[in-house]
Amino acid sequence: MFETLSEKLTTSLRNLSGRGKISESNVREVMDEVRRALLDADVHVDVVSEFCETVLDDAIGAKVTSSLKPGEEMVGIVNQRLIDIMGPVDSHIMLVDPGPTIIMMSGLQGSGKTTTCGKLAAYLKARGKKVTLVAADLQRPAAVEQLEVIANDVNENAKGVGSVSCYSEPDKCGEYGTATGVAVGVCKRGISHAKKDKADIVILDTAGRLHIDDELMHELRGVHTVAKPHQVYLVIDAMIGQDAVTAAGTFHEELAIDGVILTKFDSDTRGGVALSVKRVTGVPIKFIGTGERFDAFEEFHPDRIASRMLGMGDVVSLVEKAQEQISEEDAEKLAHKMATGTMTVDDFIKQLKSIRRMGSMKQILGMLPGVGKALKNIQVDDKQFDSIEAIASSMTKKERKDISLLGKSRVKRIASGSGTNQTEVNKFVKQFHMMKKMSKQMAGGGMASKMAALQNTDGDFDPSALGMGGRVSTKTKSHKKRFKQRKRR
Ligand code: GDP
Repeated sequence: MFETLSEKLTTSLRNLSGRGKISESNVREVMDEVRRALLDADVHVDVVSEFCETVLDDAIGAKVTSSLKPGEEMVGIVNQRLIDIMGPVDSHIMLVDPGPTIIMMSGLQGSGKTTTCGKLAAYLKARGKKVTLVAADLQRPAAVEQLEVIANDVNENAKGVGSVSCYSEPDKCGEYGTATGVAVGVCKRGISHAKKDKADIVILDTAGRLHIDDELMHELRGVHTVAKPHQVYLVIDAMIGQDAVTAAGTFHEELAIDGVILTKFDSDTRGGVALSVKRVTGVPIKFIGTGERFDAFEEFHPDRIASRMLGMGDVVSLVEKAQEQISEEDAEKLAHKMATGTMTVDDFIKQLKSIRRMGSMKQILGMLPGVGKALKNIQVDDKQFDSIEAIASSMTKKERKDISLLGKSRVKRIASGSGTNQTEVNKFVKQFHMMKKMSKQMAGGGMASKMAALQNTDGDFDPSALGMGGRVSTKTKSHKKRFKQRKRR
């Protein structure tokens, strides 16, 4: 996400860092580079001009040129201005009482509208709400079935005490296009059904087209007039750049949209839409979609996005994701098991699954400060996790509890059961033992034992065998020497 933009911005701003003295012309030069980076990221030209002017004014006003740390100060100003053009935070969904609150979803075909209906339903289910999804996208017949499948999945598997159901009339797909008002009728009946069912929220999945046309707008206006939605959201594919912003303008003129949901944020979006849409339409970005699953959905926080754009990571979102997946109680239990060296393969796999639910490894690591850029050309293969899970599930309950039971014949059986080979199983067993030993040593005692824990691996600890990407360098001899020296003193 934003890899190219982030790299260009950090490179140009780095030109000021470390310099004791800079002039106004240095700042202008840097801003020219920032301007080019933003235009390349497909940010609307008016937004770029306004942005660069305000940053320049701020920089000159703040006397960046006479500051001791001009680089840091410039980053601070750029960061604040990025937040300003995307913000403020506005993920609130206004609910009416008595319900149901009607939310109309709109967007071009392929923008991720149907998927996002499921994500929003999961978000509301987690907040204890009863949600009815109405399948009114009859333009794409498969969308009806897709929404039914999504609603079922969310109802069964998403967290929370709420519930999600789907209202659909699949037989109406055939009439669509030949008779007028079919989708309008489905919405009307869907809303009455939801009212009888005492739903808190109704989400209307309306039709899209590949491009905006009169027919689409006519249908959406019809739905809008009859359904009288309390909120209209526009779903935009963040990857398609300025065309999406232009389309957003038209949707807003016709339907007075209340919020934008940007999808496909997990892909390498150039950033243009996120930076332009609020300024161009005046409509806030409410949420972002970060993957295909119903839980790949986040509230939009401009400060965190600005931070990602400036290569400063997004630790707050990372911690939030972890908290969603791992309860404090589980974390404490695991910490105790790690400290006492009693962690089993089952504990490890449970943890691994929680981490995987947070997103792809590249996505997770990319949220750490400074890591995103380093990962740019590195392929992190999430398939490694599949082999590890397969190895673990081919073990018996007893073996998972006590991995030291694994002798040659058991390893052979596990390798053939998991579709891996004996070397892979042995590697996993070895690394698992080592991880247990290390975590026990790291937990017990001060710095000396932590150092010893790392050194005892003989530079042999390879996290990739546990599905954790690259090799960790454990060349800590110099640390050890330094430690001994300090002790002697
Ligand atoms: P619709 O035509 O607007 O209803 O679009 P769909 O909901 O069918 O989505 C189109 C494609 O985009 C599907 O393959 C979805 O899985 C995918 N998609 C939707 N949202 C996201 C997202 O946030 N990230 C990624 N990577 N894919 C998404």
